[in-house]
Amino acid sequence: MRIVRYSHLAEDRKGELPFHHQDDLEGSDRTSFDLNDDWRLEEDDAGRSYWGLLVDELVYPLTEAPYLSVDRTGAYRPEIIQMRPYSLREVRLTAPVTPSKIACVGRNYAEHAAELGNAVPGEPLIFLKPPTAIIGPGEAVVYPAISQRVDHEGELGVVIGRRCRNVTEADALQYVFGYTVANDVTARDLQQKDGQWSRAKGFDTFAPVGPWVDTSFDPTNRTVRCLVNGEVRQQSTTTLMVYAIPRIIAHVSRFMTLEPGDLILTGTPSGVGPVQPGDVMTVEVEGLGSISNPVVAETENA
Ligand code: MG
Repeated sequence: MRIVRYSHLAEDRKGELPFHHQDDLEGSDRTSFDLNDDWRLEEDDAGRSYWGLLVDELVYPLTEAPYLSVDRTGAYRPEIIQMRPYSLREVRLTAPVTPSKIACVGRNYAEHAAELGNAVPGEPLIFLKPPTAIIGPGEAVVYPAISQRVDHEGELGVVIGRRCRNVTEADALQYVFGYTVANDVTARDLQQKDGQWSRAKGFDTFAPVGPWVDTSFDPTNRTVRCLVNGEVRQQSTTTLMVYAIPRIIAHVSRFMTLEPGDLILTGTPSGVGPVQPGDVMTVEVEGLGSISNPVVAETENA
């Protein structure tokens, strides 16, 4: 089952009332809304994102965050689904996650650790990216003016479905909601200069995620690739992760509570390398999906 977030294309939806706005009416003077009313999407609504269920080419709006209402088998509470779908052409898919934090694993593929002259860590090496770095499919990664080396890092993302703390490896997968595709964009020069990674990994736009969260995906033995302008730069398989997903979740949950919606990035294969403004990065996970994002230069007024 594919969970998405989407926003309306204001031009297409003018005069129509997304059903979500019925909620906004509660407590207001107006008690009903007529679709023929002279209603217009406000500017803000064009950028506002909603939860949806993607089936074939149709997006069924969800009335709430799906973590506790949709399970890995594809079962869901039918009352959360609005049975008036939008076609994919009517909406824009946005990043399908709203995490309280993004926990990332560094050096989790041996060949990648080696290519940057690092040893494989003796336990999972965890760092954080801020949720403000997240962008969705097609959105631009902004190349910071203060960096001279920005790298792509294609990765498999894990989305947590239930709050967890101190889970065992054996139980860890019960706390997974689903999987997504991500790019752990990194200002490599600043990573080396700073010693700790918050700035290098944390720029706005440095976490492309999408295009959906697949709740029934099996991450076993899947190819992870990253392409730049269509040319393959990274290619490996999840089998070659140093620390497998259950170990990562168990390890992280030993020191921080993972909340529903939290995102874990599982590390990048070898082949990381620089991008330039004008390039397009594409990350693919076999059987899951792909996400493409152009790189643009930071402008002075940005
Ligand atoms: Mg990474």
